[in-house]
Amino acid sequence: MALLDWLLSILKKPEKNKDPLPAPAPVAPAPAAAPPKPEPKPKPQHITMQDYLMGRDALAPLTDEMKQNAQITVDKVNQLLDKFGSRRGVNSGYRPAAVNQHVKNAAPNSKHLTCQACDLEDSDGKLRDWIIANLAVPKEIGLWMEDFRWTPGWCHVQIVPPASKKRIYIPSTKPPLNPNAWSGVYDKAYD
Ligand SMILES: [Zn+2]
Repeated sequence: MALLDWLLSILKKPEKNKDPLPAPAPVAPAPAAAPPKPEPKPKPQHITMQDYLMGRDALAPLTDEMKQNAQITVDKVNQLLDKFGSRRGVNSGYRPAAVNQHVKNAAPNSKHLTCQACDLEDSDGKLRDWIIANLAVPKEIGLWMEDFRWTPGWCHVQIVPPASKKRIYIPSTKPPLNPNAWSGVYDKAYD
């Protein structure tokens, strides 16, 4: 047999003993790629964690517990601002002890130290007036306020009740800074 014929005979031999190639598994069509989700933009009336920390976490890093507190505080402030319907800046958020001791009239055991309080800018008094007229809102959210006569130009809100459990409490034994800001009278049902 000529070499060429021999080669051809090999190539033509039926390959009966070979398993047929398995049919290729159907390829599932790739799911349509979901469009990339845009980063959720903070609502314009919301404060951010950055607003709250004021860069002070670089000065005195937060413990895990303080981080949790800060998140709850920011969330609750934003729930309040959602209902209020407009933006308020953070006058004072997280306050490490080194900062707190230089804040005039700050309580040495201020809830700002533990990231449980926030001072919201309120130079026009509109947030104060709105809170007084809508005390069901902070009650539902779980926020307590310092008496507005002691907080001219801002509103102090905190996520834990004072010892007295009053929704609006007098924060100091010192005389009020703005005695005419408010009557001091509110329905005790909100305590
Ligand atoms: Zn405060």
